[in-house]
Amino acid sequence: MTGHHPQTRAVHPPVIYPAGSRPIGVPIYQGHLFSFEAADGLAAAFQGPDEAFMYARMGNPTVRSLEQAVTELEGGAGTLATASGMGAVNAVLMGLLRAGDHVIAQTALYGGTYALFQGLADRWGVEVTYIPGDDPAEVRDAIRPATRLLYLETIANPTTHVTDLPAFTAAVRGTDVLTVVDNTFAPLLCKPIDHGVDIVVHSTTKYLGGHGDVIGGAAVFADPDLHRRIWSHALELGSVADPFAAWLTVRGLATMPMRVARQSASALDLAGRLAAHPSVSRVHYPGLSDHPQHEVARRMLPDGSGGVLAFELVGGRDAGGAFSEAVRLIGLGPSLGAVMSLVMHPASTSHRQMDAASLAAAGIGEGTVRLSIGLEEPDDLWADIEQALAKAG
Ligand SMILES: *Cc1c(COP(=O)(O)O)cnc(C)c1O
Repeated sequence: MTGHHPQTRAVHPPVIYPAGSRPIGVPIYQGHLFSFEAADGLAAAFQGPDEAFMYARMGNPTVRSLEQAVTELEGGAGTLATASGMGAVNAVLMGLLRAGDHVIAQTALYGGTYALFQGLADRWGVEVTYIPGDDPAEVRDAIRPATRLLYLETIANPTTHVTDLPAFTAAVRGTDVLTVVDNTFAPLLCKPIDHGVDIVVHSTTKYLGGHGDVIGGAAVFADPDLHRRIWSHALELGSVADPFAAWLTVRGLATMPMRVARQSASALDLAGRLAAHPSVSRVHYPGLSDHPQHEVARRMLPDGSGGVLAFELVGGRDAGGAFSEAVRLIGLGPSLGAVMSLVMHPASTSHRQMDAASLAAAGIGEGTVRLSIGLEEPDDLWADIEQALAKAG
C-alpha cells in the first residue's frame, strides 16, 4: 500500500498469513468478511455450510473448528454452532416446524424449551403432546399424521430422569418423525446419534465450555441434508456463534473428558452421602441403584451419570430456599457444568414459569434442590453441604 495516502493505508493494514509454520492451537478469526480472488469462489460460498468462508454469519474458521470438534464428539455428519443453547433449540424447532404441525415432547423439559413450545403453540398453532418419557408406548399412543418431531432430553433437569433413547427412537422408526435430543447433561457419556437420534442439541455454555465464561450452543445432525437445511434457516435467524465464544468453547473442550469423569465420580460420591443424611428424604441421581431409570442409565451411561444431582429436603420449600442461601463454597446460580459447583432451588428459579400442576407433573417438589458438582475436592464440598443442611434445618 506504499504510495497511497495515510488514510488509505490506515484501512489496509498488512494481514499476515503464516507461511512455513502453523499455529498449534485454534486461532481466533474475528473478521466478519473474507474476500475472494474470483467471483466463482464467492458464488460457491453461498451454497452450504461446508463451503469457503465469505460472511461470518454463514461460516467462520474458528466457529468451524468448534463445529467439527462437536461433530466428532457426537458422531454426527455436521454441526451448527449457535450463540446460545436456546439459539440451537430455536434454529432446529423454527427450522423444522410449520403452523399446524404436531410435536411429542417429554414433560420434564428445560424451562426455556418448555416456554418456547408454549410460544409455538400460542402464536403458530404448533400442537405439543407431553409424555412422561417412561415407556415408548406413550409415543405410539400420541403419534398422528401431523406429528413431525419427538423431543427428548438424555438426562432431565432437575429430576435426573433418564430417557431410554434406543427404545424411543425405535418407536418412531419407519415414520417421518424426527427425533431431537437435548444432550446438555451428558456429553461424552452418551452419544444419542448412536441410538438412532436425528438431531442433538447442546447448551455448550455448560459442560463443553465448562468454565462458566461463555454462552453458546450447538445442533448436531446425523444427516448432512438436515444440516444444510437448518444451516440455511439459521442464516435468516441470525443465531450464529461468535468467533471468540467459539474459541473459548474449543479451549474448554480440551479438558472436558477429564472434567466430566471427575464430576461424575464426585457426584456419585456426594449422592451416596446425601442419601444417608436425615434432613434428606430422597436423592435423584441415575448412578444410585434406587433411581427409577438406574437400569437404563447403566446401559446408556456406562461411564458415569454426569455431574448433576438433586435431592428433596424434609423441610420443603423454606428449607430448599434456606439451603441454597446457606452454602458458602458452592455458588447459588441457575447453571451447571462448570468447574465450580453450583446450587439451585428450581421451584423459585428455572421452573418459575410452571404452575403448581406442571411442576408436580415434571416431578419437581417444593423442597427439591439441584447441585451441579464441579472440580472441588469432594470432602470440601461435603463439609459445605453438611453445614448448609444444618442451617436449613
Ligand atoms: C442451559 C440449558 C439450555 C439453554 O442453553 P443456553 O446456553 O442457556 O441458551 C438448554 N437445555 C438445557 C438442558 C440446559 O441446561
